[in-house]
Amino acid sequence: MIAIDGPSGTGKSTVARRVAAALGAGYLDTGAMYRLITLAVLETGIDPTDDEAVATMVASVTFDSPTDPSAQQHELAGRSVTSEIRGPEVTRAVTPVSANPAVREHLATRQRRLARSGRMVVEGRDIGTVIVPDAELKIYLTADADERARRRHRQDAGRTAAAVAPASDIAAVALDLARRDDADSSRQHAPLQAADDAVVIDSSQMELAETVATVLRLAAE
Ligand code: C5P
Repeated sequence: MIAIDGPSGTGKSTVARRVAAALGAGYLDTGAMYRLITLAVLETGIDPTDDEAVATMVASVTFDSPTDPSAQQHELAGRSVTSEIRGPEVTRAVTPVSANPAVREHLATRQRRLARSGRMVVEGRDIGTVIVPDAELKIYLTADADERARRRHRQDAGRTAAAVAPASDIAAVALDLARRDDADSSRQHAPLQAADDAVVIDSSQMELAETVATVLRLAAE
């Protein structure tokens, strides 16, 4: 089991997927789970900051969690929402939803079960600290703020293909990443932090392939 944590925009998901594919292992994107719950909250018309209302509905949200690193299609109650969960509304509202202790507890049970269902690369913010602290390898992947904003901007522009939304402006992306990371790091439950025994990889100056190779080398040790 490999846990990969770190702030937004480091390229964690791509690294984790490639590592999983190279090892013939499964891949679990826990951020997608928080995003699915958030989309359900928004569609139900519940205020994402209303902890009690969100806590009441979380158990009724039906979704599957794909673990094939090369087939990451997400569905909510049978409807494909793969791009929707990456949209700006969900990205804004996921912060209060993921800080909700009832949501975390509910998802933690599912995440632990899936993490232990076979050889897995699990990616998120609290995997090495809270979800599977016994993972064989824990990586904390980081990169400096400007580089993370550039990477996320590139990724967003690729997703929206034609019209690049104003929010895709690099400075706006940097602000959004800072907002999310501050909130993730300062929340009471399962804040974003490196596990004491995590290997910290600063990928600011590294190409994707180099980061993947570094994780694979560590996994082979
Ligand atoms: O990784 P991604 O950016 O898709 O995650 C979306 C949000 O979900 C993060 O900003 C964070 O607030 C939350 N999250 C979390 N714990 C995880 C994974 C994601 O709180 N394990």
